[in-house]
Amino acid sequence: MLPFHYEPGDLGPQEVEIAITHCGICHSDLHLISNDWGISQYPFIPGHEIVGAVAAVGSQVKSLQVGQRVGLGWQSSSCGECEWCMRGLENLCPKAECTCVHRNGGYADSVRANARFVVPIPEALESEQAAPLLCAGITVYNPLRNNGVSPSSRVGIVGIGGLGHIAIQFARVFGAEVTAFSTSADKEEEARSLGAHNFVNSRESKAMKEMAGTQDFILSTVSADQDWGSYLQALRPTGTLCFVGVPPSPLSIHLSPLINGRQSICGSPIGSPARLREMLDVAARHGVKAMIESFPMAKANEAIEKVRKNKVRYRAVLAN
Ligand SMILES: [Zn+2]
Ligand SMILES: [Zn+2]
Repeated sequence: MLPFHYEPGDLGPQEVEIAITHCGICHSDLHLISNDWGISQYPFIPGHEIVGAVAAVGSQVKSLQVGQRVGLGWQSSSCGECEWCMRGLENLCPKAECTCVHRNGGYADSVRANARFVVPIPEALESEQAAPLLCAGITVYNPLRNNGVSPSSRVGIVGIGGLGHIAIQFARVFGAEVTAFSTSADKEEEARSLGAHNFVNSRESKAMKEMAGTQDFILSTVSADQDWGSYLQALRPTGTLCFVGVPPSPLSIHLSPLINGRQSICGSPIGSPARLREMLDVAARHGVKAMIESFPMAKANEAIEKVRKNKVRYRAVLAN
């Protein structure tokens, strides 16, 4: 990445300009930088885990004031008129606009977005710890919430990384019995300190077999192929295996256990602005924090390299 200057033009009536203090680095940024998804346009400015202060508001914006501390995640606009927007599920709007796809993102001094997608940050949250919640946090919070995780639930979190370390904390806040599944045995202590009751080394097939029929909801945050059949076996009747990470290969599984146990496989994307506010409020009240490593914005390239090499525990945040 190189320094790049652009002139944003007039502020739209429903837009907000944010003076950025912090921006998290998400794996999606890395994919967009190298155009892995074929949707990047260059010059390209990554960044969609943004915290900062409102610098200017458009003429129709009544909900935010200049100087207020706010956050902006993956989504920066939607049509506001379709069935999904009317139902408060703006993240499912077919005209959803992403903060850093065909728009200029948050590895920057400033960013603009529709005011409906700019959310106040609760006072109890530090800006640098709040930034990763705006994409990683909502991505794991929303499926736990939508799938009715409760104190009676047994929840498995697959992968202890940028998403998984936050998912363990939220699952614990929801009162569930939490099991962390990881291929790294050395992460056990950390998983337990984040709130996991149990730890399973998913490389050990005996340990995986012993988990058969124990989990109500398993959330996979990993982007590597795994033995998904063994995770399906770990589900209790009516259980769900939910994906927020994308493994490279298509799934190949036997469906009989799924049918007999009335089980489900599903996926889940970010969340609506209302859910984003709720998630931040829950994080503030229950002390859910992203574990971060901070880098000056000018060292974004260095930070990205470290993320690429999987050497950051667990989320890199750029600071202006
Ligand atoms: Zn992201
Ligand atoms: Zn819409």
